[in-house]
Amino acid sequence: MRAMVLDAPGRKLRLEERAMPSRPGPREILIRIHACGVCRTDLHVVDGELPHPKLPLVPGHEIVGTVAEVGPEVERLKRGDRVGVPWLGWTDGTCAYCRGGRENLCDHPRFTGYTIDGGYAEYTVADERYCFPIPAAFGDVEAAPLLCAGLIGYRALRLAGDAPRLGLYGFGAAAHIAAQVARHRGQRVFAFTKPGDSVGQDFARGLGAVWAGGSDAAPPEPLDAALIFAPVGALVPAALAATVKGGTVVCAGIHMSDIPRFPYRLLWEERVVRSVANLTRSDGDEFMALAPKVPVRTTTVPFPLTDANEALAALRDGRIEGAAVLVP
Ligand SMILES: [Zn+2]
Ligand SMILES: [Zn+2]
Repeated sequence: MRAMVLDAPGRKLRLEERAMPSRPGPREILIRIHACGVCRTDLHVVDGELPHPKLPLVPGHEIVGTVAEVGPEVERLKRGDRVGVPWLGWTDGTCAYCRGGRENLCDHPRFTGYTIDGGYAEYTVADERYCFPIPAAFGDVEAAPLLCAGLIGYRALRLAGDAPRLGLYGFGAAAHIAAQVARHRGQRVFAFTKPGDSVGQDFARGLGAVWAGGSDAAPPEPLDAALIFAPVGALVPAALAATVKGGTVVCAGIHMSDIPRFPYRLLWEERVVRSVANLTRSDGDEFMALAPKVPVRTTTVPFPLTDANEALAALRDGRIEGAAVLVP
C-alpha cells in the first residue's frame, strides 16, 4: 500500500510503498481509507513543534474509511461498516483522569497520526473502541473534517458556555464548522481573520457570522466568550480585551506561540482563560449526532494522497478555505 511518511521533523513527507498493516489485534480493525483531513496539528507535528512523535510516522487523524477486516474480539463493528478515526487513539482506562470521565487528559494516551500511525495512507489499523460511525448524510470527503476540526471546535464551544455573542479567532477548518454549530445554538458569531483577509471575512459572513474583521480590530459589540483557533499567543490578550466581565477565552489549539505579557486588568473581573485538550468519546458521540441536525456543511479542498506536502504547504500559507482533505 501507499503511505506518506515523516522520517524526521522538518523534512518533507516521503511516498512509500509499504506492506499492509499486520493483522488487526483483538479489538482492532483494518480500515481501507477513503479520505483523511489535514489538520493544523499535522503541521505542528511535521514542523517539530510537538515533542516525541513516533518515527517514522504516517500523520493524519481525521480518517474516514470502511472496515476491511476485524480482530477476533471486535464487538461493535463489522466488515463494510463506514467509520471515522479521530485524534484520540487509545487510553489506559485506569488512570485518575480516565476513571473520572476525563479520558481526554489520560496519563498514557496514544494519538492517531502522532504516537501511532494515522491516515495519510491507503490502509490503517485502529482500536474499534475509539472509532465513530459516520452519519449517512455526509460523503467521505465532507465527513473527514468533522473528526478533529469539528470535534475539537464542539468541545471548545461547550467549554465556552452559553455565550450569546461568540468570537472566533482564526477562521479555518475548525471555526468554519463551529460557526455553523454556534448559529444553530442561537449564538451570534463574530469572526476574526488575519488583518486584510477579505476573502476569509467573506467566507465567515457566508457561514452566518454577523460580523467579520481583522484580529487587530475591535468587534462592534463586546463578546461573551471567544474561541482562539489560530496558533498565535498575541490573540489571548486581544480576545480578553474584547470579552465582557466573567467571559471565557478558550485556546483550542495544541500549540501556540508565546503569549505576550499583558496587564492584569484584562483578566480582572472573573474573566477566564483556558485551553481545550483532545477529546473524549462522549464528545464524539454528541457531535456526530448533532452534525446532521445543524446540518453542518463542510467546505473542503481535496488533494490526492501523494500531494500531502502541497496540502500542508497550502494550509501553512493560509491558502485553504475550509479544510484540506487527502484522497488516496
Ligand atoms: Zn488514562
Ligand atoms: Zn486535529
